[in-house]
Amino acid sequence: METSKIREPFVRGSFYKMKNKSSILEKVFLICFEYYNRSINSSTGKVKNPKEILRDFDFELKKQPETEATLLSDIQSYLQLTPNTLTPNFSNQLFSGLNQYALAGDWLTSVTNTTMATFEVSPIGTLIEKKIIEHLNQMIGWDAGDGTMATGGSNANMIALLVARNKMFPEIKMKGQLNHKLTIFVSEDAHYSFEKAANILGIGLNQVKKIYTNVNGEMDVSHLEESIIASIAEGECPFFVAATSGSTVLGSFDPINLIYEITKKYNLWFHVDGAWGGSVLVSSKHRHLLDGIKNVDSMTWDTHKMIGTGLMSSFFLTKHFGSLRLSNNIGGEDYIFHESETSEWDSGPSSLQCGRRNDALKVWLVWRSLGDFGIERQIDGLFDMAVKARDMINKYKELELMYEPSSLNICFRFRSTHEVNALNKEIRFRLLKEGTFFVNIATRKNETFFRLIIVHPELNEIHLESLFSAIVRLGIKIEDEQSSYLLKN
Ligand SMILES: *Cc1c(COP(=O)(O)O)cnc(C)c1O
Repeated sequence: METSKIREPFVRGSFYKMKNKSSILEKVFLICFEYYNRSINSSTGKVKNPKEILRDFDFELKKQPETEATLLSDIQSYLQLTPNTLTPNFSNQLFSGLNQYALAGDWLTSVTNTTMATFEVSPIGTLIEKKIIEHLNQMIGWDAGDGTMATGGSNANMIALLVARNKMFPEIKMKGQLNHKLTIFVSEDAHYSFEKAANILGIGLNQVKKIYTNVNGEMDVSHLEESIIASIAEGECPFFVAATSGSTVLGSFDPINLIYEITKKYNLWFHVDGAWGGSVLVSSKHRHLLDGIKNVDSMTWDTHKMIGTGLMSSFFLTKHFGSLRLSNNIGGEDYIFHESETSEWDSGPSSLQCGRRNDALKVWLVWRSLGDFGIERQIDGLFDMAVKARDMINKYKELELMYEPSSLNICFRFRSTHEVNALNKEIRFRLLKEGTFFVNIATRKNETFFRLIIVHPELNEIHLESLFSAIVRLGIKIEDEQSSYLLKN
């Protein structure tokens, strides 16, 4: 056996090997720094399938330690094989780009590696999270609200259901769901996380009633009332309505004031899923989209989407102070939540987690760096750019706008007289293979179209022009291939 090739196994002191300047941390920091600076002007990267990645990359976990050189090459491969989401050419999801203070905040969170469970191990982290929650609550109009950060908007929607259920049916926490046949109401354009939550909480997928939406994707309020009446007539227990502020595909906003009248009439918890559109509240020009928000019971808000604070930055907010702790305070007094002068500051009892990462620091740093006014300008800029994108699409005879945009979601397709859905899917597939743009498609009411998200703060007309012309170029090319194939056969 060649002993020279075998690296030393773990010895005490090797955990923190960074005595000299060229430590691994310094090298990786420089790699990250360089990646961040270059990515904004790079393409999204060629998309590969699992076979190709497995062929090109060594994943094995071995008996012997790897060398630092191998690990550095692993790190480079990881960066290369991950689609670049920092460029304005990435518009596949409802986030794109990363504010530099968000990255800095995340690094600080990692280097301090503490948990938000108790005040004593996260004193400043706890106060920072409380401050940002208070600030968001004030934007909604709640001076004495409550809230927590969550592992995502999906999780925040689940917490909403849990808190609402435990407040409206307090006996369920101890005794289980008993004979209640709980029902909840969301629009047919709502996010799938409500069904996931209904599954987890034992409410059941059939008990999630889907309310029709109009041509713009906004909840049909008369159908909501009919469904509530029908559910009561069936002997069920309707208790929860969620409106969507910024729907995932169309970017539409449900009419909060009209829905509020109904939730008041039937005494239902009113939640707003603002994971995507909640940030609009910071803009005095566009916050009318959530008119009436002050009256609702709770809200989900992801700042990593429109504000660019980095994944995950998700908030569950409620106007009912204390409701979170009442619902979620279960156990842990024996070893972690000690009776002390700071115990009322512990966020653990309000949370579903034990160990919890500090996601608040990055949001707080971004907010401090931009101020309300800076965030407002960023969001107003996105809305202006969305209008430009729509106007540009209307100038291409080959492209067709599917819906008049409600906010930052631009839904359009390449026109074609046959197999239009398959053609648009093929255009996207080729775009991803080319690796210049990463944009999503959606299917709604049997029509498949591009869903362009205007959310990167540096996205401009030049990016848009090259995206639209690439789609047109590929659309024409694929149609040509198809017609020559038909001629040959
Ligand atoms: C993104 C989104 C979610 C899910 O949020 P995650 O943070 O991705 O879990 C829920 N609802 C809506 C409307 C969304 O846009």
